[in-house]
Amino acid sequence: MSVNVNYSKSTKGIVMQTQIYRFFDLHSGGYGKTPYSHLYIEAPSEEMATSLFQAMTGCYPYHVTCECCGKDFSVSDDVSLDQATGFERNCAWDKYTEMYVDDEGDLAKAYGIEYMTLSDFLNSGKVFFLPYETWIEWEFQDDQARAYFDAVVQADGYGSYRHWMKHNS
Ligand SMILES: [Zn+2]
Repeated sequence: MSVNVNYSKSTKGIVMQTQIYRFFDLHSGGYGKTPYSHLYIEAPSEEMATSLFQAMTGCYPYHVTCECCGKDFSVSDDVSLDQATGFERNCAWDKYTEMYVDDEGDLAKAYGIEYMTLSDFLNSGKVFFLPYETWIEWEFQDDQARAYFDAVVQADGYGSYRHWMKHNS
């Protein structure tokens, strides 16, 4: 997957400002809703990201599977992919700029927690990222979103996503 993300997009002359929407699986009801712990979608709005998320996974992120656990996913946004993944990658936190720094943090050093580069993280097979460049080309958005997600799940070694869903809920 490409990690070279440019946040000011020009499509057919329109400059589109995008953000990274982070969907963190809260395992409501005791199980993961997709094979990934975190899914990141680059989109100009949360509505757009949610609609792509639903088309790909067949899950509504704000659905509550179990009342005591709460929402299926926690949704947040950030300015860039390196910032949106900074916590998960155990990056150092700069308290002055309030930004993650692409380097091993104190916690990682003290506890031997692994710091991951963005590229290693994206290629770990444990997270999913949908770049703007990919979906903006889709003509039949829902069909293509579903097919794309199925192909990535397969490539990451989880087999067929629809089959995975049957056996993991
Ligand atoms: Zn519960």
